[in-house]
Amino acid sequence: MLEVLPNIAKSQASYILNKPLVLPMNLTISVSYRCNSRCKTCNVWQRPNDDFTIEEYEKTFASLGQAPYWFTFSGGEPTLRKDLPDMVESAYRNCRPGIINIPTNGIQDKIIPGRIEKVLQAAPGSDVIINLSLDGVGTKHDEVRGVKGNFERAMRTYAGLKALKSRYKNFTLGIHTVVSNFNIDEFDNIRKFVLEELKPDQFISEIAEERVELDTVGMGITPPQEKYSAVIERLQEDIRNENSQGVARITQAFRQRYYDIVKRTLVEKRQIIPCMAGISSAQIAPNGDVWTCCIRAESVGNLREHNYDFGSVWRTAKANELRRSIKAGECYCPLANASYTNMLTHVPTMSSVALEVGQKTLMEALKGNNGKSSKLRNLPVINAAQEAQASSAEKVRV
Ligand code: SF4
Repeated sequence: MLEVLPNIAKSQASYILNKPLVLPMNLTISVSYRCNSRCKTCNVWQRPNDDFTIEEYEKTFASLGQAPYWFTFSGGEPTLRKDLPDMVESAYRNCRPGIINIPTNGIQDKIIPGRIEKVLQAAPGSDVIINLSLDGVGTKHDEVRGVKGNFERAMRTYAGLKALKSRYKNFTLGIHTVVSNFNIDEFDNIRKFVLEELKPDQFISEIAEERVELDTVGMGITPPQEKYSAVIERLQEDIRNENSQGVARITQAFRQRYYDIVKRTLVEKRQIIPCMAGISSAQIAPNGDVWTCCIRAESVGNLREHNYDFGSVWRTAKANELRRSIKAGECYCPLANASYTNMLTHVPTMSSVALEVGQKTLMEALKGNNGKSSKLRNLPVINAAQEAQASSAEKVRV
């Protein structure tokens, strides 16, 4: 994990100097717009398909080398691609990421557990995080996601995935809830069901944002700031009530700061800490367009036109222009994926996390309880970047 530290330093230098000295450590690969859900919060399934082949991914991952530490394979529904395990194998062989994150709607209950088992086998040295989408309980879930019987199928998928846990120690199973105008009043019910019935390794909740990628701009899916802030308060209270130790304590500190950033972003409507999209994080669309982030979804170049050389696309004039725009604060958002990379490269955030964790650890040591082994995967972590940083930060601290 320590290999990420030079990347963080170079990312900071890139931001200051206005030129990319490093390839992104956090890369989202949207493998297809195809989806068998019809969510009220997403129109991505209507976009035309021109998906990369496995050979195209192989060339792209080879060009990236070991720069990306954290991969997300998203969609559409990523498990619809039969070659998802082959993509993961290619990314693993070429890039050796520490973390591989894959969301799923869980609809193909007879296929997904077996496909994910192949993913786990393809990346034995990475932490593989599978997040099952859950936007309601029972028929409410079906209503929000537009597919009758989705909830029952998702629960069967969840059981199938859970059965893999005893065989794959690198497997984290989570639940992911998008909080929108369609389910915010149900959030307490969802939270109770997840924590008391499903008991996943992690429970992730994010606000529904209007994204160019999802063709949802202007749809009015985002809940009012006051209502979402109440949801956040509840999640933050859960964090405060967790008596975690070691690495988990660091994870909690990052999560609290992420939620604080979300609340302030919604009120102040600006970047609360500098956004490092276009430097530390990026996304590749199914057709090979490279974006700085999925919210803006503006292509800085297409990999097919650059002989699948990611670095070449990363250095285009368009990429530099977007970096300028982002640095100038011409956009803002609470996107979790970008926010965690932003926090990792933000010295004041890192310092305050280190201070808080140091103080708590010292207090505990003085009380005679010097911490036991951490249970990071039993926490409802928002995503894996914080785990990555937490791990390295703890090594540094020790
Ligand atoms: S602030 Fe949000 S919209 Fe702007 S570049 Fe960062 S992630 Fe994208």
